[in-house]
Amino acid sequence: MKAVVYNGPRDVSVKDVPDAKIEEPTDVLVKITSTNICGSDLHMYEGRTSFEKGRVFGHENLGEVVAVGSDVDKIKVGDMVAIPFNVACGYCKNCERGFTSYCLTMQPDPKLAGAAYGFADMGPYQGGQAELLRVPYGDFNCLRLGEDAREKQSDYVMLADIFPTGYHATEMADVQPGDSVVIYGAGPVGLMAAYSADIKGAGKIMIVDRHADRLKLAESIGAIPIDDSKVDPVEFVLNETMGLGADKGCECVGYQAHDPSGEEHTEMTLNNLVKSVRFTGRIGTVGVFIPKDPGAKDELAQQGKAVFDFGLFWFKGQTMGNGQAPVKRYDRQLRDLIAGGKAKPSFVVSHELPLDEAPNAYQHFDNRDDGWTKVILKP
Ligand code: NAD
Ligand code: ZN
Repeated sequence: MKAVVYNGPRDVSVKDVPDAKIEEPTDVLVKITSTNICGSDLHMYEGRTSFEKGRVFGHENLGEVVAVGSDVDKIKVGDMVAIPFNVACGYCKNCERGFTSYCLTMQPDPKLAGAAYGFADMGPYQGGQAELLRVPYGDFNCLRLGEDAREKQSDYVMLADIFPTGYHATEMADVQPGDSVVIYGAGPVGLMAAYSADIKGAGKIMIVDRHADRLKLAESIGAIPIDDSKVDPVEFVLNETMGLGADKGCECVGYQAHDPSGEEHTEMTLNNLVKSVRFTGRIGTVGVFIPKDPGAKDELAQQGKAVFDFGLFWFKGQTMGNGQAPVKRYDRQLRDLIAGGKAKPSFVVSHELPLDEAPNAYQHFDNRDDGWTKVILKP
């Protein structure tokens, strides 16, 4: 089968690799029809993780079931399914508590938790930027879609990651009707956090970035765009909130946060959130931070450390939730919002391209080139 293979920093190609197949009786085999490039892929693409050369990318997947193992009960050949990026067993201590993003069974390293398709440090699972994907524990890890699955697949594929991840940021921030919310990062994840805050009835949604195309999309869903290459985002938010700060905040950038000139400052968005969220406000951090970053320029960042403004954070009595999103926790509800015509997360999509165009698409998305807001590959 054809698949997007990582050759080394900023180098991917579409190559022939052995076909994915049923390996365990609980597996489901999916013919991928839509698979996204994610900001998380870019950390790996840039060589800023331990992702192994020769592996296949792709954790935002949707497709048609073409084979099921002998112990699969619910999922049938022909079903259209969205596949949460977390590979989870459903029965370990963390999965039982709803933390499928920290599954203990599917992560082979006993010192770690959490598994995903085509992801650094998250188990051996191949990615779905390919013609076929093996889904372990298919009954648990596939979300069945309705008859509108093909017609709305550019919406439903967002259920694999960014829609529930953005929603998770707003859950950890405890966004309530009427709340003012500030979001750092207007990439696909930040846009989904803004969209989720709107679904939850937030009163005022502000979003910080410096890419005009992304800020324009944010504006199209009623958020207030803040261009931090032109204004101080903290001051802007304080002005919009009677000097108090936003009720809630979301971090949707991650450890490669940088200033508008491109210089990286791991702590930048975290400290801006502490400053622009009110006393006792809550913050949800879904942008990825990692325990070791050998590719960073500054020494602390290399050790996964950020100079976090803990004094002010404590003084303001704020709380913060972090981590990989437990996609399954939200996925049925978000699916039904799409099915019911109440949500259309495909508004972030700029390109739908054949799999063969992946190398070019990676390059543009990684440059954050104007107009490249979200790419769906079609194997
Ligand atoms: P992206 O790289 O396309 O978007 C990030 C955006 O942040 C860019 O538009 C960039 O201009 C902006 N940015 C950079 N520095 C900034 C700063 N200092 N202030 C404000 N904005 C800044 O990526 P994405 O797909 O939107 O993903 C965002 C983050 O979420 C990534 O770290 C990704 O790995 C992570 N992620 C986490 C989960 C999870 O489960 N927790 C799931 C998916 C993605
Ligand atoms: Zn993703």
